[in-house]
Amino acid sequence: MAASATHDGAGTRTVIENCAIATVDANDTEYASGHVVVAGNRIESVGAGKAPEGLQNVGRRVDGTGHLLTPGLINTHHHFYQWISRGLATDHNLFDWLVALYPTWARIDEPMVRAAAQGSLAMMARGGVTTAMDHHYVYPRGSGDLSGAVIGAARETGVRFTLARGSMDRGEKDGGLPPDFAVESLEDALAATEETVKQHHDASFDAMTQVAIAPCSPFSVSTDLMRQGAELARRLGVRLHTHGSETVEEEKFCHELFGMGPTDYFESTGWLGDDVWMAHCVHMNDSDIAAFARTGTGVAHCPSSNARLAAGIARVPDLLAAGVPVGLGVDGTASNESGELHTELRNALLINRLGAHKEAALNARQALRLGTYGGAQVLGRASQIGSLEPGKLADLVLWKVDGIGHASIADPVTALVLGAAAPVTLSLVNGEPVVENGRLLHVDEDAVARATRDEAQRLARIAAGS
Ligand SMILES: [Zn+2]
Repeated sequence: MAASATHDGAGTRTVIENCAIATVDANDTEYASGHVVVAGNRIESVGAGKAPEGLQNVGRRVDGTGHLLTPGLINTHHHFYQWISRGLATDHNLFDWLVALYPTWARIDEPMVRAAAQGSLAMMARGGVTTAMDHHYVYPRGSGDLSGAVIGAARETGVRFTLARGSMDRGEKDGGLPPDFAVESLEDALAATEETVKQHHDASFDAMTQVAIAPCSPFSVSTDLMRQGAELARRLGVRLHTHGSETVEEEKFCHELFGMGPTDYFESTGWLGDDVWMAHCVHMNDSDIAAFARTGTGVAHCPSSNARLAAGIARVPDLLAAGVPVGLGVDGTASNESGELHTELRNALLINRLGAHKEAALNARQALRLGTYGGAQVLGRASQIGSLEPGKLADLVLWKVDGIGHASIADPVTALVLGAAAPVTLSLVNGEPVVENGRLLHVDEDAVARATRDEAQRLARIAAGS
């Protein structure tokens, strides 16, 4: 046990005790009443009962009575810019929704993207997300430093962050959906992506900012960009991300254009591997799932967005049974207006129970695992985050489960997953508090709310005049 009586130089300690703990380790170890000791930015010890006595350099002691402590939630698919285009085209399927919204999205600029990122990140962080991601793929000509704006907003909020630097080079004139002025050339997209990786990607164990290479989707990107994007990622040693197998329309598009389904197309362009994760993966047959399992390709399951766009139900129980890494994503808030990851824990469970496996599809603990350890796996960071274990980074959330919304549910994990969004009493990222008593510590929520409203109105005005 780490009950060393002398300060070992690991940094100031934070002790959290008297709370239920779901570690989400390999054995799903839980404690009805336990403790976690954080030293610097790492978890030093986790166990039953009170923290060890005689700890030195304890800067803070938190009484977690009435709370559940879990790893912080990890979001694996999002589009921050959509925060200022929510609630539109609500009766559309994916392709019609994209066609309806691209003319608006093509007008975004740096101040809009900054405000949208601040709004998205604030909503994530105050709901228990400790690692956020943004798949940003709309870079209209002359729109400013959009990647820098998003990364800056993540730093301000205090969460760990992956920017999936997206791109599109298949505009309307090439049979794609986006307007031509909203897409980049192949050369520009690759050069800007490489520059973003070199400028911002941190490969260290406790990195706060990472960059992945993320062409948008098979139907908005040329085969050359898919292939060369994969080659670039492997040359630079970063991960790959895209949308895949989201709808029947996409499957049809791939058959018509490439003579094969999406998974075979991904394989043919170098896009299956343990350094790749894909959003959605709804329309997968058994051999597609086997190909993901064989190659270690990960999936970002986005149940609310899939329902909002009538895309279908991803086969999560089959993916998990095959050994495919699966995390959760909110997806962009133009197709999931709430923007909260907690909702995805609940909806992953509920929606999969409407699928083939019915009540055996997912349980509450599997849903929590998708939102924590599963997310760490698909981001390639399972050795660093995603579970409460000594040596891992101190990204953790203390959820209040003794209030009106949860007190009558005996099992705290069930209360967290199936109950209303539990209040976040304390969220630590890298050992540092980011949320206390439901409020963000580093961001003025009211100012962010005003900025998002103002920028949403400015975008609507510009789009209406275009
Ligand atoms: Zn998406």
